[in-house]
Amino acid sequence: MENCLFCKIINKEIDSSIVYETDNVLVFKDINPKAPVHFLMVPKKHVKSIMEIEELGYDTIKEMMDMVVKIAKNYELSKDGFRIVTNTGIGAGQSVEHLHFHIMGKRKFGWPPG
Ligand code: AMP
Ligand code: ZN
Repeated sequence: MENCLFCKIINKEIDSSIVYETDNVLVFKDINPKAPVHFLMVPKKHVKSIMEIEELGYDTIKEMMDMVVKIAKNYELSKDGFRIVTNTGIGAGQSVEHLHFHIMGKRKFGWPPG
């Protein structure tokens, strides 16, 4: 998708610090981390938000959920707790209109979120 920041990162037109890459999914470090571990996981196919997630198909959706578990294991996030966030829409603070999951860990998280 033209003019989409995360599509440009996926296409390597913009540099990022890549954590994992498969044919369908990219995980990279958030440029402005809000936790000691703060990754963004995106499908390579452009979909605007979780409201269009069906467009990805079951295999990619499952791959992303499996990827969360793999990251939690590899970075030892689950013992002390970690958080996955998908801001959806302006009111929730979504600033990039390409579906992304924040994966954050290694600090204490409050509830409810702001
Ligand atoms: P959201 O506000 O939920 O849409 O999340 C967008 C996230 O993208 C924010 O946490 C930003 O810090 C992050 N971000 C913006 N530009 C970049 C970039 N060039 N590389 C990595 N992360 C970015
Ligand atoms: Zn995109």
